[in-house]
This record gives sequence, C-alpha cells and structure tokens, in this order.
Amino acid sequence: MRTHYEILEVTSSASRAEIRRAFRRKLLCYHPDKRISYENNAFSEIQVAWNVLKNVELRSLYDESLRLKQCHENDVIHEEIKVSDMEYVPVDEYTKGFTYKCRCSGEYQLEYADAELLQSGQVKNMVISCNYCSSCLQVSL
Ligand SMILES: [Zn+2]
Repeated sequence: MRTHYEILEVTSSASRAEIRRAFRRKLLCYHPDKRISYENNAFSEIQVAWNVLKNVELRSLYDESLRLKQCHENDVIHEEIKVSDMEYVPVDEYTKGFTYKCRCSGEYQLEYADAELLQSGQVKNMVISCNYCSSCLQVSL
C-alpha cells in the first residue's frame, strides 16, 4: 500500500503549502468530471491523503504510525528496555507519560495510558519510535 506522501508525490518533510499544491495538481488530473486518466479509487485516495496531511495533529499521528510500520517491516528494534528504565514526566496538564532519551537528540515517549496496558498485562510489550530519528525500541514491564 502506498503512503499518503507517495500518493501525493511529496516528500515526508514537505510543508503544508507544498502538499496543498501537490493535492491541487493531482485533483486536476484525477477529478472524475475531467475524465483524464481516471483510475478507480485514485480520486478518493488523494482526498484521504490530503485530509490527513493538512491537519497537523493527524499528520503527526500518521508519521508516527509510518515509523512504527517501518520498524516492524524491517524488523528493527534498536533496544529493549523496561518501563522502569524510563523517566516519569508530566507531558502537560492532561497527559502524563514516560520518556527515554534516544542516541540522537530526540526522545521516546510512552503515554501513561499505554504504560497502564503494560502494567495490567493486557499487552506484553510495546514498540515505540523516537520522535526525531527512525529508531525504535521495545518496552516491557
Ligand atoms: Zn532518535
């Protein structure tokens, strides 16, 4: 399956303005009314991609899921740690969680709700990705 970035033919670091331009360009090619090189589903694919990428919050969630998918596909877990190796931090007044410093300047974040899943035994381990580079690690209790 192609990523939203591949569908719009932009890089994953493209700005919102660049993505918007790419979306408009694609629309012109694929709009059902124009019937130019119309492919099944291509039009809705483009719209779904744009809907996600134009929204900062949805885009960052999507990026996160892409990084995790990559980790699983390449079967790359750079490190295995315990929740107790992580630092407990209040992320903001609503969210608390755990962080762990990456070798790059980024960090891994484990949301408190996810830590609770581990603590309750509902899941055995969880793969999280660095918020800066493409490293992944596996956390267990
Ligand atoms: Zn990193």
